[in-house]
Amino acid sequence: MQYRKLGRSGLEVSTISLGCEGFIGMGESEAKAMFDTAIDAGVNFIDMYSSDPEMRSLVGRMLADHPDFHIQGHLCSIWQDGQYKCSRNMDEVKIAFDDQMQRLGRSRLDVGMIHYIDSLENWNIVWNGPVMEYARSLKADGRIGCIGISSHNPVVAREAALTGEIDVLLFSINPAFDMLPPDEDVMRLFKESTYTEARHNFNPEPVALYELCEREGVGIDVMKAFGGGNLLDKKLSPFGCALTPVQCLDYALTRPGVAAVMCGCRNLEELKVCLSWCDADEKARDYSTVLTSQKKFTWSGQCMYCGHCAPCPKGIKVADVNKFLNLAAAHSEIPETIREHYAVLAHHASDCIQCGACEKRCPFQVPVRQKMTEAASRFGF
Ligand code: SF4
Ligand code: SF4
Repeated sequence: MQYRKLGRSGLEVSTISLGCEGFIGMGESEAKAMFDTAIDAGVNFIDMYSSDPEMRSLVGRMLADHPDFHIQGHLCSIWQDGQYKCSRNMDEVKIAFDDQMQRLGRSRLDVGMIHYIDSLENWNIVWNGPVMEYARSLKADGRIGCIGISSHNPVVAREAALTGEIDVLLFSINPAFDMLPPDEDVMRLFKESTYTEARHNFNPEPVALYELCEREGVGIDVMKAFGGGNLLDKKLSPFGCALTPVQCLDYALTRPGVAAVMCGCRNLEELKVCLSWCDADEKARDYSTVLTSQKKFTWSGQCMYCGHCAPCPKGIKVADVNKFLNLAAAHSEIPETIREHYAVLAHHASDCIQCGACEKRCPFQVPVRQKMTEAASRFGF
């Protein structure tokens, strides 16, 4: 298992982590087999977005002997009349959060995730109102380690990331969603009609969001890496062919700022497939074969951080250099952290001999030689 820092939260989380929806209605022995397998594989983090009380109690029992397993709890995800509801009513929010902690058997949750903010109007209500005040008080009292928000809208997520108070973002990331403009209606992300229009390259907002999060130390954990399962189904995938779970996971995990994918597995088989990312070779992880076989959707000139251009005769990690160049692009002065990350690379852009071998291998027509020249000039070496 690989572990990554979840931004500035102080948490080190497993790249393959757990969603909770698969545990709804699951029996004790099946859930135990799932947790045993996950923990044996090194998984140490779970998202608890669902408010299903039985499921929360089940997860609490499964984690009773694992106090170091990190939990991302949710504020505003409540249970009413036997159903999930997103609420900003503080009486409901507080009762639901206390109940969640009690069912999970914890006096402290690692992340307090403010649930489901997809419009700027809703963000303003949360940020300027009692929900945020409550989140701050939970953090001050040590009942949560840090504050996060969950969203599908990069415009909202950007506002949150810029506050300096939101340390973690639960965001929907996959190559289909990343092509779309920001939207306040999450259901549109799943509609077939949304993908009828030809699209070229990513939409700039999600790309800028991931780069912003990496720069600012806002840790991203990922939901909907499989597009609700649509990307795994040839008939439902907007690309006209299915991606494998490992390709979807690798896509999400190669976006800047991303620490973990929360995999909502419904059974042991699905969990094992997700865990197989850890040992998958480059060929199995390679999502570029699917993305570059499209007529309607094309990507060109934009680095996807896929690493296909390796090996470089001078040992330059082109994907890393491109990433730090992109992270530096938004600043007139390069931030110290980005400069340091660039400095510790074993080989720098100034080592480039302009041989062009990388460009021949790049499936996305990135002008790597030009990028190396830009990076050498920007960083000074
Ligand atoms: S052009 Fe530069 S970065 Fe690309 S393979 Fe050659 S030396 Fe490496
Ligand atoms: S330059 Fe091309 S091959 Fe290399 S990481 Fe970027 S997109 Fe992938």
